[in-house]
Amino acid sequence: MISILTIIFFVLGLIVGSFLNVVIIRLNTERSLGGRSGCMSCGHILSWHELIPVFSFLLLQGRCSKCKTKISIQYPLVELITGLVFAGLFLKFQDVFFLNTLIFSFTYAYYAAVFSLIIVIAVYDLKHKIIPDALSLILAIFGFVGLFFLNSNGVLSLPIHLPTLWGFLSGFIIAAPFAFFWLISRGAWMGLGDAKLAIGLGWLLGLSRAVSGVVVAFWVGAIVGIFLVIFSKEHGMKSEIPFAPYLALGTLLAFLFELHLFGI
Ligand SMILES: [Zn+2]
Repeated sequence: MISILTIIFFVLGLIVGSFLNVVIIRLNTERSLGGRSGCMSCGHILSWHELIPVFSFLLLQGRCSKCKTKISIQYPLVELITGLVFAGLFLKFQDVFFLNTLIFSFTYAYYAAVFSLIIVIAVYDLKHKIIPDALSLILAIFGFVGLFFLNSNGVLSLPIHLPTLWGFLSGFIIAAPFAFFWLISRGAWMGLGDAKLAIGLGWLLGLSRAVSGVVVAFWVGAIVGIFLVIFSKEHGMKSEIPFAPYLALGTLLAFLFELHLFGI
């Protein structure tokens, strides 16, 4: 039963991931979210069998069926990651699923929306080296509202309640060091976008998991950074490394695996 449900949520994630790809591509462009997807190069409108998450990419061997232009690896990767995240979210809240389907549905929808947003932010930052303020704002609103609706296990708990003092402060405490780095380096080490993003992540995770997530983000970022310096000619020490993808990874790991690295 658990494994079947995990697969169902994985497939749901694949489908949502393919929508997230559209959002990432069309965000801050003239194109609306409606309308059929087409090849970026020749405009060939994709038919249904070219729109199946991950599988179409493999079937087409990563090329447009008409003009054979390479399709970005972003598409299957975002789909796969969203699938894994959605499956992970189900596994985390599986107890709630069997206890109360309604509470599970609200809780799951909340985190599915939040992590979809985080995926969009991470990939957008990776592509454009900027975190759109609007997305950080929406995430912060989600995180803040969650303080009133979720219990300490992150599960919907009514009636609404006031957040704990530390819960309320967590967003600002997590954002503070990022804002500080931005200020003293005048934007060279860290963009202000990372600080704005951190507010929402702090509220979402609470202080203990958020600190753990940020530390994981810095470690992974440092390791990847070293590899990039060694193995790539383009990435000098001075080149800008988008940090949102690492923050997203740290957040996901801290959330799914309940990382509390420093007994706070
Ligand atoms: Zn084409």
